[in-house]
Amino acid sequence: MERVLVHICCAPDALYFLKRFREENPDSELIGFFYDPNIHPYEEYRLRYQETERTCNELKIKLIEGEYDVEDWLRNVRGLENEPERGERCSVCFDFRLERSARLAKELGCDAFTTTLLMSPKKKFSQLKDSGERVASRYGVKFIAVDYRKGGGTQEMFRLTKEKEIYQQDYCGCIYGLFQQKEEDSLFDLVSTPGRRPGSKEERLFIKEVRTFAEALGLPTKEVEFPFLGWIPLEGGLWVKGKAIPSFVRPYSQSIRGRCRAGVDRVVGNTLYLNKQFVRIVLLDEFEDRPLTEPEMTTYPTFLVPGAYRETLLENRIDARLRTEFVNSTSSVLLIGDPQAQEILGIPADTLQDRRGVSPKDVRILIEKNLGCIEEGSVSLVLLGAHSLCGIGRKVFEETFGVGITRIIGYGKVLLNAKLF
Ligand code: SF4
Repeated sequence: MERVLVHICCAPDALYFLKRFREENPDSELIGFFYDPNIHPYEEYRLRYQETERTCNELKIKLIEGEYDVEDWLRNVRGLENEPERGERCSVCFDFRLERSARLAKELGCDAFTTTLLMSPKKKFSQLKDSGERVASRYGVKFIAVDYRKGGGTQEMFRLTKEKEIYQQDYCGCIYGLFQQKEEDSLFDLVSTPGRRPGSKEERLFIKEVRTFAEALGLPTKEVEFPFLGWIPLEGGLWVKGKAIPSFVRPYSQSIRGRCRAGVDRVVGNTLYLNKQFVRIVLLDEFEDRPLTEPEMTTYPTFLVPGAYRETLLENRIDARLRTEFVNSTSSVLLIGDPQAQEILGIPADTLQDRRGVSPKDVRILIEKNLGCIEEGSVSLVLLGAHSLCGIGRKVFEETFGVGITRIIGYGKVLLNAKLF
């Protein structure tokens, strides 16, 4: 029996490649190796790994995760930053990943190794073949170069990716490819905010992690993606006499032009209106973020500040700065169980800006404690993307499945050990 190490670059390429390779080599033992320190940023790397794990679980293929030695990778491609895709940087990138794969294949006593990169429609087959054969000769293991893209293979790969609701990335992987392929949009792939904000890679990763866990228990899952108007704070804050005032920025606040120095013009309830650029300050009992409950059509630059700062703000000039972006975003809802269950429990997949939210561990324990009810179809769970923005995920779920969510476990509620039904 032949043992083959398969270097895996991502789940979309891996799913069809592994299925087909196994069909053609039914007597081979396959071992997956996810080794891709080229992927940037790290959140994107984790997301692609998570989907690879889900794919290998389904195909019952052992998966090994390589080291994320991104600094080593960056050193290797130094001087090739501006090379186009399929150019010299990509040759070095292939050599780097396949060299480590060949070495591991040798260590594991494999007869041969191959790579799912051969499936990628944008890669040059001959460039990959040359790279694989070059490193193979150094380690005395065979490199298998198969082109499964021909004869409708690429179309079948896309069909399977859609059917299995696998995350489909929109750039090759490295930071240089990201700039070249997505141009000005690349900024939003690189901005990382604390917690799991609506539409972020962290929110998506959370959903995928929970899905992998639920599927491993044999539970049915269904994920529905949706587009929405997203919003990202890039920089900003409030200062009095050079001292920062703790604040969160309300979603959909617009940018402030330059630096705004202003005083309080009027006070309505707990809201202070400044006399420049529509800036508002909402005073709260606690220093915490709040989910939006009503759709917001105005874009006042709005800061949430602890009430203890009321006098300081009223008596002084306030420096306010804010830069934000409105972006086309996507998120998803994940149903675990039967959509016709009597009880459907909604769980926000995002967190608030103060990071309050439900942890992956909470959800795993919740699923385990209620496993029997989910299996028999009386209870289902739904992870709701972008919930803090007026419950967008809930609306999408209810419209898509035509059923209502019975109750929602909100942000920061501890679920550990909860048997809910
Ligand atoms: S574009 Fe893709 S293959 Fe080329 S160097 Fe970047 S990550 Fe590697």
